[in-house]
Amino acid sequence: MPPQVERIIGRLRQGGFEAYAVGGCVRDTLLGRQPGDWDITTSARPEEVKGLFTRTVDTGIQHGTVTILMDHVGYEVTTYRIDGEYEDGRHPKQVAFTSELVEDLKRRDFTINAMAYSHETGIVDAFHGMEDLEKGVIRCVGDPLERFGEDALRILRAIRFSAQLNFTIEGRTYGAITQIAPNMARVSKERIQVELTKLLCSDHPEKICKVYETGISVYISPAFHALPWEGFRVLPGLSAEKYVRWGAFLRLAGPEAAVQVLKDLKLDNDTVNRVRTLAVWAGKEIPAEAAGVRRAMSGMSPLVWDALLDLNGCGEAIRRLTAEIRERGDCLDLKHLAVSGQDLIEAGIKPGKEMGELLQRLLELVLECPQKNERGTLLKEAGIQGIKL
Ligand code: ATP
Ligand code: MG
Repeated sequence: MPPQVERIIGRLRQGGFEAYAVGGCVRDTLLGRQPGDWDITTSARPEEVKGLFTRTVDTGIQHGTVTILMDHVGYEVTTYRIDGEYEDGRHPKQVAFTSELVEDLKRRDFTINAMAYSHETGIVDAFHGMEDLEKGVIRCVGDPLERFGEDALRILRAIRFSAQLNFTIEGRTYGAITQIAPNMARVSKERIQVELTKLLCSDHPEKICKVYETGISVYISPAFHALPWEGFRVLPGLSAEKYVRWGAFLRLAGPEAAVQVLKDLKLDNDTVNRVRTLAVWAGKEIPAEAAGVRRAMSGMSPLVWDALLDLNGCGEAIRRLTAEIRERGDCLDLKHLAVSGQDLIEAGIKPGKEMGELLQRLLELVLECPQKNERGTLLKEAGIQGIKL
């Protein structure tokens, strides 16, 4: 447990309250994985939590959450709560605070996510989460139909955790997933996207096929459902960047379908643009000669090019050419052309479409033959004579 978490729990206890590390951090620590963040659950009410610490942020007071800043890191401290009835399968309409830890653990989604820990008590495991961790099983806390009925996102979380941890989904839990799948239509696309991104960036991205097999995909979006699921293959050794994993998943769909899926799921523009480029070039033969490689590289950022080499399984020859092009610093875009738009204006060419085409023509020349990236040569090519060089 990080010392900051010990300090927070210690101070809450000194104040006369109960406090525990809870959820994902307990699960990950038991598995020997690095927890993403440390969440704390306490019997103290938000106002009482705020009274014990100097630097706090009201992140979700109405849900009982106060963030405590310690050494520039935020730790979420949430009051024990019972989630009220769920509105439209999304948000609890109201939450009620409780003084019982086990009531708070009961509202959590899976047994492996429903354990708490403090030095004083050791692990509090009311729902046999340890046993399921050992067996490698994702199992709902309580009745799976009821729990998925409260919040359909949990069915996607089940698949996401099974991909991150390489766990199987317990039989009744799996059955309930297929039954509650239609409720996914009412879950917000942003929440769905977060889970799918985590799934694709996990050690087992191939488990995304479960989203299709369980009958969920059709309730996510038409473009998503229409993806070529049968042909999906994992590519080994890909970096776990968001655009690389989405690109690998969508590369066989074609650029238009890929972009539609990402827009449906409200992914950010950077990811959409990178994946569009990857889908355009996926499977295209890139000739193993310098000019062809430069032409291809000129159409995308260095990061996207590197991802494309991996996605297309490009061999040594193209990788070596890439390294040489970068070492020499061959010009690959208008920014690095030896002649700028300003130069052409000074030479009397009017800015506009024609000038753009001229610059493009000069760039193509330089991609073909990098030695020509020289002011005099390019101006002569542009048909401009008698310029002071
Ligand atoms: P990670 O942060 O690695 O993605 P996590 O388990 O910490 O995994 P969070 O989404 O951060 O997941 O949620 C923290 C905890 O809150 C979970 O471990 C679980 O106990 C509970 N929880 C989160 N989302 C839900 C949900 N939709 N329904 C029920 N409990 C949930
Ligand atoms: Mg977390």
